Amino acid sequence: MTRAAEETRISPEVMARYEPVIGLEVHAQLDTLTKAFCGCSTKFGSAPNSNTCPVCLGLPGALPVLNKKALALAMRASLALGFTLQKRSIFARKNYFYPDLPKGYQISMYELPLATEGSLEITAEGQTKRIGITRLHMEDDAGKSLHEGFADSDTWSYIDFNRCGVPLIEIVSEPDLRTPAEAYAYLNTLKQILEYTEVSDCNMEEGSLRCDANVSVRLRGAEKLGTKAEVKNLNSFRYLTHALEYEIERQIGLLESGGKVTQETRLWNVAAGRTEPMRSKEFAHDYRYFPDPDLLPVTLSDAQIAEVRSAMPELPAAKIARFLRDYGVTAYDAGVLTASRSLADYFEACVKAGAPAKVAANWISVELLRRLNDAGKEIDDCPVAPAALADLLSKVEKGEITAASGKKVFATMFETGKRAAEIVAAEGLAQITDTGAIEKAARDIIAKNADNLAKYKAGNEGVFKFFVGQVMRETRGQANPQTVNEILKKILAES
Ligand SMILES: [Zn+2]
Repeated sequence: MTRAAEETRISPEVMARYEPVIGLEVHAQLDTLTKAFCGCSTKFGSAPNSNTCPVCLGLPGALPVLNKKALALAMRASLALGFTLQKRSIFARKNYFYPDLPKGYQISMYELPLATEGSLEITAEGQTKRIGITRLHMEDDAGKSLHEGFADSDTWSYIDFNRCGVPLIEIVSEPDLRTPAEAYAYLNTLKQILEYTEVSDCNMEEGSLRCDANVSVRLRGAEKLGTKAEVKNLNSFRYLTHALEYEIERQIGLLESGGKVTQETRLWNVAAGRTEPMRSKEFAHDYRYFPDPDLLPVTLSDAQIAEVRSAMPELPAAKIARFLRDYGVTAYDAGVLTASRSLADYFEACVKAGAPAKVAANWISVELLRRLNDAGKEIDDCPVAPAALADLLSKVEKGEITAASGKKVFATMFETGKRAAEIVAAEGLAQITDTGAIEKAARDIIAKNADNLAKYKAGNEGVFKFFVGQVMRETRGQANPQTVNEILKKILAES
């Protein structure tokens, strides 16, 4: 039971009478070297206020110029999400005051966004569903207010303008999501597509991907939408899930006790584990939008759109279909291997280097991912190159080493970066194929275990496993298990 349910004690029966309605607004930072309208660097972690100029600081007379790469990435994202790109879109000024917004307005798109009517297919709790996406538009980011972390933070706040003018896309979904799990799946699928297309690095810790949620509840079967609250600051998948669970229960609790949901903007308080009112919800007219007189309308030709479309990288769904078709891997493995483009590339490089596809798929999704996870590493930092893994797998396939030894060798490869052949030689792990050696070990074991031999003779088949285990141990796991079985059967029959 979540905290909200404990506080309000809403029974599952009451909860089940309501239907949550959720829409997400996702901001993604476009992966450009320079800002949206000036040449300042977008590098994360630069010294505070070092990446600024008159344009992104909004000094009088400075003129913004649209970053071509940012537009190309926004177009690519639009096409990957099934949007219709608009031939003409307009940058508008969204006016508001905030200390970290030196221009006094954000450059965004309002009446005429870059793209409209997209959609995304998601799978949550075993159900596949298409979620509508209303619009995608470009905008620039604001700076950052730093309220803590300094010796004098009790009296001063600091401002870092480095983020000012960093290019973003905002992707606004339809209120088609019905559960926190669907919202999670939507954000996850969206993130995967933005990463695949290299539109954004989607690094949530660095603020490259941020999410706000519009949440309301209504009685099941009701047509009319309930009053919504917007929850901001959902900058991790965990926060998104927890905040939605909390907010849904809060709103149901309010309605059940005869209260009303207020249309407002709420903030997810991470430490307290609850949403809190931030301000009453502002409306579009509060921002006094008007077309930015310093920027030309964005006009797109058919040729430009066709060019972006033709350069589109393979998307996750297409890659899954291809892996199933070309490599014959299981649906589960196809899903695991395509979770990121880097992992999919790793798998394909491994197959290209000669590894059998199904074997490689299995090793990568089990052994490799487990080791990466334990080491806290990403696939890009994997100490075992795809060709080195392919080399190891071919040794196992050819029977040069046993599968058990293969796993040991892999562990050493992962730790030391050495090649399989070197480790096999150094540790004497080459598979014992000499039947004479195996036979000798088997005879010794049987001779030493007369009591178990008697049991076996008396019909206790289970003892056979004991003998196999002992011989494998004697040969340090390097004997071919098949051969051990055959030899033991033969000797035991003779004994
Ligand atoms: Zn600048």
